[in-house]
Amino acid sequence: LEHFTDAYGRAGFTPCDVPLHFVDEFPSPFNGQNSWAITVDRTDAAEFRINEGIYLLRRHLMPIASSVILAHELVHAILSVQPSQRFVRGLEEGIADLVSVLALRTKFSTEVIRNTLRNFRFYHPLEPIGHMYADALSAASGLALHLGSDTFVAWVRTIQESGRDAILPDAEISLLQCAAVPRVVADNAPRFQELESVALFLMAYPRGYVVSPNARLVAEHCRVGRTINDVAELSGLPRTATKKALAELEEALRIVMVSENGRLLSADTDIYVKSGVLRYRAV
Ligand SMILES: [Zn+2]
Repeated sequence: LEHFTDAYGRAGFTPCDVPLHFVDEFPSPFNGQNSWAITVDRTDAAEFRINEGIYLLRRHLMPIASSVILAHELVHAILSVQPSQRFVRGLEEGIADLVSVLALRTKFSTEVIRNTLRNFRFYHPLEPIGHMYADALSAASGLALHLGSDTFVAWVRTIQESGRDAILPDAEISLLQCAAVPRVVADNAPRFQELESVALFLMAYPRGYVVSPNARLVAEHCRVGRTINDVAELSGLPRTATKKALAELEEALRIVMVSENGRLLSADTDIYVKSGVLRYRAV
C-alpha cells in the first residue's frame, strides 16, 4: 500500500492516507455488489456509518491480480480527496485502470501489467457491467494517447484538486458527445512510456477474435496452398471438423479463404495466432 502511495506521490498526486480492510463480505449497502474490491470514501463512510477505506474480499486475494486491484482502488481514493456526492462509474473506471500503471510499473513489467488489464477487462463473454469497464478503459486510453500521457496525468491531477463532481461529468459528456477533450497544459513533465504503451496495446487489442477451440487449433496450421486434408492431418482433427473450423474462421473473421475444391486461397491466421489475440471459448 505504502509503496503504491509513494509511486502516485512521485507522479504528482497529493498522497492520501487510506486504510485497507480485508473482509469476507463488503459492509452494507455494498454487500450485494459483485466486485472484488470497493473504495468507501469519507462521504460514503459518514452517510452509511461504515469505515472509510479500500475493502478487498479475502476469497479473491491472489498474486499480481490483487496488486492490480489495489492500484486501481487507490486511484479512486486519490480522486476522493475532495468530498464527492457521486458514486464512481463510467470514465473514472478507465482512468483508474490507466493511472494504476504509474504504481504498477514500480513492481511489474509492462507486459505483465497490460496482460493483466486485458484479462480483467476484455474477458469473453463480457457481462453487461464488463462492457462498461472495457469501454471506459478504451475511452481513457484514447484520451491518454490523444493528449499525451504527461498532459493526461496533469488533467487527472486537476480532478484530484477540484474533485470528481466538478470535472468528470462535463468531461465525459464532452468526450462522448463532441469528441472534445479537456483543455489542460502539461507541466513539461516527462511522458510516461509504460502508460502510453499499455494504452496503445489496449486500444489496438481486438476483443472479438474469439472462436471455437477447434477453429483456434486449426488456425495454427493454415497456410496458402494447403488443402483441408493437409490442415486436418496437421491439426489431428477429423476432416469434417476441420472443414467446419475453417468455415468459422472464414465467416466470422475473414482470416482465411477456402476454394471450392478445398484449398486455402488466403491465410492470415499467423498474425492473430502469433500476437496472441486469437482466443477460444472455454465454455
Ligand atoms: Zn473501480
